[in-house]
Amino acid sequence: MLKQWIAGVDLGGTTTKIAFVTMNGEMVEKWEVPTDNSQQGRNITGNIAASIEEKLRLHGQTKSILAGIGMGAPGPVESQTGVILNTVNLGWEDNFPLKERLERATSLPVMIENDANCAALGEMWKGAGNGAKDLVCVTLGTGVGGGVIANGNIVRGVCGAAGEIGHITSVPINGAPCNCGKTGCLETVASATGIVRLAMEVVIKNDGDSELTSAYKNNGSITAKDVFDCARNGDRLSIEVLHEVAFHLGFALANIASTLNPEKIVLGGGVSKAGTILLNLVKDQFDRFTFSTVKEATDFSLATLGNDAGVIGAAWLVKTAYENK
Ligand SMILES: [Zn+2]
Repeated sequence: MLKQWIAGVDLGGTTTKIAFVTMNGEMVEKWEVPTDNSQQGRNITGNIAASIEEKLRLHGQTKSILAGIGMGAPGPVESQTGVILNTVNLGWEDNFPLKERLERATSLPVMIENDANCAALGEMWKGAGNGAKDLVCVTLGTGVGGGVIANGNIVRGVCGAAGEIGHITSVPINGAPCNCGKTGCLETVASATGIVRLAMEVVIKNDGDSELTSAYKNNGSITAKDVFDCARNGDRLSIEVLHEVAFHLGFALANIASTLNPEKIVLGGGVSKAGTILLNLVKDQFDRFTFSTVKEATDFSLATLGNDAGVIGAAWLVKTAYENK
């Protein structure tokens, strides 16, 4: 069994990442295929099956080398049945029976999990988690994703929606609208999109000299990276924006940590590439708002697996199911 591989799949809105991973979590090969969202997602499972078979052929292998397929998918997933309950971001039919269709297309056992949960499992297994069994993973990208692992197990909740850290209400009054239909979600202030929105607000309010204002005037727009670059150069307005982001993020993480007492909080995604400038500000706010025993026990790390976290975490699902058989 140890010689077997697992196919890890990370289903994204535009591309699907696939990898062959060993039972020890080592990457054999990774590649990408476009996600075909036409016909309400009808071609997805056939495309993934064909791509896996083609790669196996190139390796001189047959399907018997694969112990199974683990897959991360966006949205709430019913993990027992492998049904994606709501595919708002993909435009497929609701209650999409992903597991059943992929099993039929490949004749292999398939396990499905929410994609942010897979990223958290990947970081726990082979990344920044470094063996920690109690960990909270937050992905700061276009949106804010979250995965909570308690005692080595992903926390799913009653309908697969646990760990939706991006939708914790952070601005209870006059918050900006979120894609989920609420207002004031953490995602509206701590994602790349949220940072740009906050930056635009301060630029419009302040017409004095500022590197951020000049960046806006020169390019006609601002990116989250502009805000980080300008803040590093000491730009007052950019630092103001990052203080606000860090306040909301630190406050939310403090309350999560006081509830769960995690060993590690792992920050990933594009925004986390800002590095220490944001991390240190978030830590200051975290320390301010966290129950003292919890505060001392919590270690902050930046994610180390990048885009590979999802496929490695998806493979972990299969490995663990095998071990517990
Ligand atoms: Zn929301």
